[in-house]
Amino acid sequence: MSAQPLWLVTGGCGFIGSHLCAALIAAGQHVRVLDDLSTGRRENLAPGATLMVGDVGDPSLLAAAMEGVSGCFHLAAIASVERATREWREAHRVNLSAFVAVLDAACAAGRVPVVYASSAAVYGSNADLPLGETAATRPLSAYGADKLGCELHARVAGVVHGLPTLGLRFFNVYGARQDPASPYSGVISIFADRLLRGEPIAIFGDGLQSRDFVPVSDVVAALRAAMMAADLEGRAFNVCSGRATTVLELARTLADTCGGNTAIRHLPARAGEVRHSLGDPTASRTALGLTAPRELADGLRDVMSWM
Ligand code: NAD
Repeated sequence: MSAQPLWLVTGGCGFIGSHLCAALIAAGQHVRVLDDLSTGRRENLAPGATLMVGDVGDPSLLAAAMEGVSGCFHLAAIASVERATREWREAHRVNLSAFVAVLDAACAAGRVPVVYASSAAVYGSNADLPLGETAATRPLSAYGADKLGCELHARVAGVVHGLPTLGLRFFNVYGARQDPASPYSGVISIFADRLLRGEPIAIFGDGLQSRDFVPVSDVVAALRAAMMAADLEGRAFNVCSGRATTVLELARTLADTCGGNTAIRHLPARAGEVRHSLGDPTASRTALGLTAPRELADGLRDVMSWM
């Protein structure tokens, strides 16, 4: 093996993880993936990466996975808010307890820096937009509560155990390899799939609810920059575009990208859905040296050409 670093990527067969692995390998670096293939797919594994199949909460597997790595990107999780609600204890085990196991293994392996996926879900009911990192965290779901728990344990890891970490609060990530067949997938892949089939797009409620959509390429750039910035402070930064897009606007932009019109069907609004979500990217851009986000229409073209 060359002198290039070896990275551990948990969840590397998933949507975001597979893009990260591909980028690391394209940069000539080495990648080891730990994934149980529960939602991830073997075909997503970036060529050149090695795969350990198993549970991220398994301490002996983690000890082996951490051997010789320069850093760990921790992305493995039950990433569906709905599933975490239904399977509360199992989601807590994977989303929080396994994270503590990752931190523990990273300490034991010689304080391997850990960059991990948090989520905008930590802000929950906070409607004071745009949300900066100092905004109050008020999770509304088991998923959001566990992600916030990860941030608290990461802080403990730095203060008590001297372990460098950095958390990233992803907003609505989109891009190729987001499974449109999954009911929990991002709205963009589901809309794109329907458009390509010539079927009407179903929107819950009036469609004026808004989201901050961030392309997976920007997320990968943030993850790589975060590894260089991990420290003992237990910091967590937003990864967002800073632009609000309504679901209706999204449907229209996607239809324009396909060069066609689309029929929109409105369904009853979903109970408990956050009406607006918008992040402030200022602090993360400064701390991580990130560039301005890609335009939505530009990112959407990538999704359509993948599908
Ligand atoms: P994903 O479901 O595509 O990827 C998660 C990966 O983790 C999958 O490959 C899955 O097989 C693996 N995994 C799940 N449980 C595991 C376990 N017990 N042991 C080992 N591997 C396991 O989801 P994603 O969208 O790529 O999300 C990656 C991370 O980003 C997650 O932590 C998620 O919570 C977070 N996140 C995603 C978004 C988004 O918009 N996609 C937004 C906020 C946060």
